[in-house]
Formats: sequence, structure tokens, C-alpha cells
Amino acid sequence: MQPITRDEAVTLLKPERREELRERAHEVTERCVEKRFDFCSIINARSGRCSENCKWCAQSAHWKTGCETYGWVGTEACVKAAKEAAANGADRIGIVTSGRCLSHDDVENVCAALREMRRAEPDIGLCASLGLLSEDDLAKLNAAGLQRVHCNLETAPSLFPSLCSTHTIADKLATLRAAKKLGFQICCGGIIGMGETDEQLVEFAFALREIAPDSIPVNVLHPIEGTPLGDRGILDPERVVDSVALLRLVNPSTPLRFAGGRRDMSDETAAKCIYAGMSAGIAGPLLTTPGADFDDDRELAVRAGYSVGR
Ligand code: SF4
Repeated sequence: MQPITRDEAVTLLKPERREELRERAHEVTERCVEKRFDFCSIINARSGRCSENCKWCAQSAHWKTGCETYGWVGTEACVKAAKEAAANGADRIGIVTSGRCLSHDDVENVCAALREMRRAEPDIGLCASLGLLSEDDLAKLNAAGLQRVHCNLETAPSLFPSLCSTHTIADKLATLRAAKKLGFQICCGGIIGMGETDEQLVEFAFALREIAPDSIPVNVLHPIEGTPLGDRGILDPERVVDSVALLRLVNPSTPLRFAGGRRDMSDETAAKCIYAGMSAGIAGPLLTTPGADFDDDRELAVRAGYSVGR
């Protein structure tokens, strides 16, 4: 099968070619995607008060959103989350912290938590989303047992500067590159519905292809009151499905993961997304918005022919 070109990808997003786009994406899914629905869980291990000005985010200190704010939750809470995730049959647990990066003490805290999580749950995958990380931080996290690093590109590189001015795509790429160099698995995706044009959706999909992540989380913007994107409507469900199909065509075998915004979606739309290539999910609560019901998504995945569970 010939890899899709950028021009072809843009023309497939025209409404009159919708059916073709989705059928081609489904065909690629059937051929290239492992028929096992991967689930991870996350713990919001430090919330709010973030110095960065990401226009979509409830946790930025630049916007008044009333989001819950608290400091590092501690090792015990992380171990509890790992046990719950394992009991739910999740493949992996991710520690997520708000903020641009970690201080020296933050890194030590996360490392201590990782070691205890590994002791308590020897078989669960360990992931973390900790903002921008230096090679030094990453080496310590690696030694503490971290296996996967999450850092989203968020959107098309050409759109990102209008959505965040406190850090850059280049900063993110430096973290991802350093993580890859140390042998980490990479989880890198973004948010759709932030005003991207067809061309920018394609640009985003190809930028991800260049990174070649091990997982692509696909968030759909859940507009949050108080953020600059708070009055954007919820993305048209058909556009959500088309976006998933496009991401699948450009990234034929990478797991595409339901993430934020799943709760705004009907099960019918979620099933269409799975048909078009979604092949993984997040079980349990997300960061500032409710997550999918694990049982709902598990059922949809099984109905689509996927196996689920460790
Ligand atoms: S997306 Fe991350 S870096 Fe940006 S404001 Fe939210 S917590 Fe901070």
C-alpha cells in the first residue's frame, strides 16, 4: 500500500470524499493495527497554578477557571492509583503533573513514587507526563523505572504559537528527542477542534508521523469557561471521526488513543471513531474533565473485534 501524500490527505478531507476517507482508514486499521485495545489510566499528581499560557488549558494560572489546585500528591496516592489501574485491567498508569517542568525535588519525588509503584504492581506499565524534561531528569526517571514519556505536540506546528507563547514546539521536540535517545517509549498526540484548518490537521498528522510515537492520544477540545477557547463550540462529531481517519491514514499502525473530550461524544460517534482507527483509550478520570466509562469503551472495543486487558 502506497503511503498517503500530504496533498492527497487534504483532498480526502473534502466533505464529498468523507466515505472514501473513512473506508480507506478502516482498511488500513484492519491491515496494520494490532487487534488489542490498549488502556492506560492517569493520576493528576499536581494540579493547576501552571506558569504556561496554553489557551485551552484549565490549569494555566493565566486564566480564571476555578480548576482544582494542589501540589504534589505524594507517593502513597500514586501507589494507590497504580493498584486501582491494575485492578481495572489497565495496561499502564501515567503520572501527570501541571507546570512547565520539574524542579530537582520534584524529580526526586516522582522517582520515589515510581519505585514504589513498581514494587506494588510489578506488571503495570509506567508512564509520565511531566512537562519539559532535560536529559538529566530523564536519566533519573529511567533509572527509577519509568518506561514511557508523554509530551503532546498538541496541534500543527504552524498553529501552536497562536495558542501558547510561553514555550515552543521546538522545546517539546527537544524533550521527545532526549526521551527517545534514552530508549523511552513515546506517547505524543494533541487536541483537535482548536481552530485547525484541513491543511493544519494534515500538517499535525505528518508532524506526528515524523516523531513516530508509540501512542497518539487524540483529545477533542472540551471548551473550558474562563480560557480563551472557552466559547468555541464542541467540535462537530463528523469532523472528529474524519480527523481520526486522517490520523490513521498518515500513521498506519500507531495506536490512536481516546483521551479528553471522550465524554462529550456519543457512543455512536465513539464507535465510528473505532471503525476509522481509534485503537486505545484512557480508563478512569482525566485531568480536569471526566473520563470515559471504562466499561463503555471496553464494550465498544470488544464489539469491534479487539481484545482488551493484560
Ligand atoms: S497544557 Fe500543561 S503546560 Fe500548558 S497550561 Fe496546561 S498544565 Fe501548563
